[in-house]
Amino acid sequence: MLISFVVPCFNEEKPLGELLRRLEATADLLDQPCEFVLVDDGSTDRTWEIITRESARLAQLRGVRLSTNWGHQAAVSAGLDAACGDRVLILDADLQDPPELAVEMMALMDQGYDMVYGRRRDRKSESLFKKATARAYYRLMSYFSDGKIPEDVGDFRMVNRQVLDSVRALPERTRYLRGLFAYVGFRQIGIEYDRDARNSGETKYPLAKMLRLGFDGITSFSDKPLRLAISFSLLSILLCLAICLYVLISWLLFNTAPGWASILITVSAFASVQLFCVGIIGEYLARIYTEVKNRPLYLVAEDTSESDGRTDAG
Ligand code: UDP
Ligand code: MG
Repeated sequence: MLISFVVPCFNEEKPLGELLRRLEATADLLDQPCEFVLVDDGSTDRTWEIITRESARLAQLRGVRLSTNWGHQAAVSAGLDAACGDRVLILDADLQDPPELAVEMMALMDQGYDMVYGRRRDRKSESLFKKATARAYYRLMSYFSDGKIPEDVGDFRMVNRQVLDSVRALPERTRYLRGLFAYVGFRQIGIEYDRDARNSGETKYPLAKMLRLGFDGITSFSDKPLRLAISFSLLSILLCLAICLYVLISWLLFNTAPGWASILITVSAFASVQLFCVGIIGEYLARIYTEVKNRPLYLVAEDTSESDGRTDAG
């Protein structure tokens, strides 16, 4: 049985050597034919140079270079499309997800599970900020998806061919993979693991990218925010009525001078609620726009399995 390891790499020249060592060691442990599909997501450092050099030495290694930086989810998708394995493991290049866990995952798959995902137990040495935002986000996502997307679960998972092909067949452009994998069903199980510190280099997920992934997740799997807009507006209508009452009473009883403060406060409060709701609609509109354009998810510039005549790394 061929096992594929799919690894997205964006400027990961530093951890690559150690990653390949750990992958080779894991392949030995598994005692199964393995292929390592490394996707270079438009790196500007020596990542691709290292991948091509190593692929000459290591027959199991297949490198796919994307035409530009398409983003983490697109890079993983490219790797999933390239992978030939009967079972596929997705992991990060920075070794935050220990590849050795593949042994445990394989055992569960042998018991009849179609997918084994890693649930993060501890994020030692990740920044407090990252821990707090991740925690808040996973709770929020769980609320929006009605608990269908498991909490504290990233893309680190092993899936069989059936699950993989089901996810690959989904037509949507915005790939929120962890959500799509949860959505397709089959027999899934999680195993807990401690998320290690990044091996070397910095995170390739600055706050803006994290927020983007977060919004994509919510708009892919929930229309609750759209409905939330209605709740907000109902709330503001109630508030508006209360203010009208107050204004009427003070006009009738006290004949007060017109208060500019209250006007300013109400105008700005309602304006912000309106803008917020328009923003929510905008998010969904943007999603629809992306889907309608139907542009490719990623473009491949180079593939080591083609340049050296191999067609199947297995
Ligand atoms: N990554 C990628 N394209 C990007 C950003 C990240 O392929 O545009 C890869 C990166 O090389 C790593 C994985 O996605 O293998 C996760 O990124 P990172 O470790 O920086 O995220 P964090 O663990 O800090 O959330
Ligand atoms: Mg990382």
